[in-house]
Amino acid sequence: MSSTAFEVKAYPEMWESLNMDVPRFDKARQMLGEVYGKMYLSQPDRPQNMAYFDEMISEIFGGRIKEMLDVKKTGKPVVGTFCVYIPEEIVVAAGGICVGLCGGSQGPIPDAEKILPRNICPMVKSAYGFKAGRICPYFQIVDFVYGETTCDAKKKTWEILDRLVPTYVMEIPQMKNKRDKTLWLEEVKDFKAKVEEVCKTSISANDLAGAIKVINDKRRALQRLTGIRSANPAPISGKDALLIEQIAFYDEPVRFAQKVNALCVELEHRIANGEGVAPAAAPRVMVSGTPMALPNWKVHNLVETAGAVIVNEESCIGTRYFKDLIDENTSDIDSQLEVLTDRYMQIDCSCFTPNNERVDQVLKEYKDSNAQGILHYSLQFCHTYNIEEIKIREACEKEGIPYLSIESDYSPEDVGQLQTRIEAFLEQIRG
Ligand code: SF4
Ligand code: SF4
Repeated sequence: MSSTAFEVKAYPEMWESLNMDVPRFDKARQMLGEVYGKMYLSQPDRPQNMAYFDEMISEIFGGRIKEMLDVKKTGKPVVGTFCVYIPEEIVVAAGGICVGLCGGSQGPIPDAEKILPRNICPMVKSAYGFKAGRICPYFQIVDFVYGETTCDAKKKTWEILDRLVPTYVMEIPQMKNKRDKTLWLEEVKDFKAKVEEVCKTSISANDLAGAIKVINDKRRALQRLTGIRSANPAPISGKDALLIEQIAFYDEPVRFAQKVNALCVELEHRIANGEGVAPAAAPRVMVSGTPMALPNWKVHNLVETAGAVIVNEESCIGTRYFKDLIDENTSDIDSQLEVLTDRYMQIDCSCFTPNNERVDQVLKEYKDSNAQGILHYSLQFCHTYNIEEIKIREACEKEGIPYLSIESDYSPEDVGQLQTRIEAFLEQIRG
């Protein structure tokens, strides 16, 4: 498909029925289609199996919404989340759908700034603005939202968001001692009880075992894709890989895993034939830091337009979401909830203290991905990642790893300055 022929499809009647601001949303839909066409479809040598993910973007405000509405008609919930600490296995076990609502675009931020402070993370403002402006169909169809206490901006925003959509909050411990796990397990149990209450159902060990397998399979497919990206020349662009990691948060999980695995087969053939999307000499960059929610493609686009290729995302929209699996060898519900909690406690978000395992994980992924430099990315006003950046930088200095730290938001204002810094960083890698 040519970059000019691409469009995100419009479903105005359905949006009307969801009480959206249709004229305004339709403009955002058109802009997304134009940006996607320019940034994505203009890439040379894209794998054929990316066609499915292009279609997912084309239907992002239509086909997938219809599927979710069909599930709701059966009495099952659609649950909105903002963090990879919320155990989606429990929602899937109840027959419901879990959808990531993190905001990655600038458009809704003025809506949020009418009430929220300006100097908080753009992800929080973007997400809140989507609901306040009624310009996100996913936000309009969720039965409820489950937030968490990972960072201050989020946990206080939930109190305000609750005025617009029922919002529950999971307390996430800040440390990883034994008593923290006890607290976290109780929170997981409360989450299960809430989902059961809304679904008017009881989740059995069988249901949960099935859901654990489904989500493990999704994570395994993403792990496979990540492993493949270590090849040189890189068989897939970082932009395409990031897109897949973003789609993981709203696609149907079984179908998504099948499509990622089909793509992996194609990429394995490419590797066998020595084919890639960039020359073998192209600098290989790993990105580490805060999540890049859809459609935040700014840094990937700048890096790859400058002739490099991104080979890994150490991020929640990246490896932090799928590096750990849940043990599938438990059969009673209590043991399942225990191993589920164990798995989630391994997530190394900077909201924990201390969080030295993340530094080790960054270095491991750097080596595993055959990267040649690390770009640390932090959203503006994200204090925990911005401060933890000190330790990542020191570790890179010690290991002699070329390193660049970027703090940015969703506006295009810093693009010129970022471009200059990224080009200097790539020159450093090239030596
Ligand atoms: S960075 Fe931390 S708070 Fe944000 S989604 Fe990841 S785990 Fe949750
Ligand atoms: S990026 Fe940082 S500040 Fe923003 S929501 Fe995540 S943890 Fe909070």
